[in-house]
Amino acid sequence: MIDSSAKAAAPKVVLITGASSGIGEATARRLAAAGHHVVLGARRADRLHALAKEIETRAGDAFALDLDVTDPGSVRSFVAAAHERYGRVDVLVNNAGVMPLSRLDALRVDEWDRMIDVNLRGVLHGIAAVLPIMGAQREGHIVNISSVSGLRVDPTAAVYSATKYAVRALSEGLRQESRDLRVTVISPGLTRSELTESIGDRGVKGAVEGQMGIAIPATAIGDAILYAISQPAEVDVNELVVRPTAQG
Ligand code: NDP
Repeated sequence: MIDSSAKAAAPKVVLITGASSGIGEATARRLAAAGHHVVLGARRADRLHALAKEIETRAGDAFALDLDVTDPGSVRSFVAAAHERYGRVDVLVNNAGVMPLSRLDALRVDEWDRMIDVNLRGVLHGIAAVLPIMGAQREGHIVNISSVSGLRVDPTAAVYSATKYAVRALSEGLRQESRDLRVTVISPGLTRSELTESIGDRGVKGAVEGQMGIAIPATAIGDAILYAISQPAEVDVNELVVRPTAQG
């Protein structure tokens, strides 16, 4: 159960998918430093355990668990283990994502499917796993990571954008259906992380990496998430767009 000596005025149990690198990893550090209990999920367990250890050496509390968001059973187990350990689930950050960009006429259909499975189905699996718990608690907060690609479409990003538009649509539907849940969409612009490693099309990868010089640190997104979850219970921050000043 929760240790009441934690640093934050109201420490929360925060589950973060995709916590093994980039935005998820930075968010875990930020939230743990603020005194929240962070539950870290991703497939690279070695990375997660190293991060949990690092957080604990700084007097934070972290719990690392294997997670594949494409598998609804894995997501249910992740949420159940967190619930069993802490007795509640306050926040789910649906952050795990992949971005194998390519033109549609390149027909990289397996990559389209992977984006739909991770970026869209993964978010739905997370929502399905926490809704019964948050419903019983009569409170909870779901933070979904979309993208500026959820607000505009560019060549090579058609399928990625489709998944990120969908995340915004289902977040808005979820928000409208509930009077107890808070729902926040965070839409980052270019952010330093490992995301471009998922781009299989070499030409596109080079072009995207060429734009990353202006990218902001992943901590900027962690700060936005911390802001959203730190508001009073009756205040729901619905949407935040956080991008480099220099990004058009
Ligand atoms: P990273 O590649 O650094 O992080 C992606 C994370 O997702 C990793 O921890 C990875 O962990 C995890 N992940 C991927 N597939 C799965 C899976 N099947 N199950 C569980 N976890 C998975 O990129 P970012 O930090 O940039 O990405 C985080 C989110 O931010 C994504 O949703 C992305 O679309 C979004 N975003 C990023 C932007 C940017 O410029 N960086 C801009 C806009 C949005 P593992 O491989 O260990 O499973």
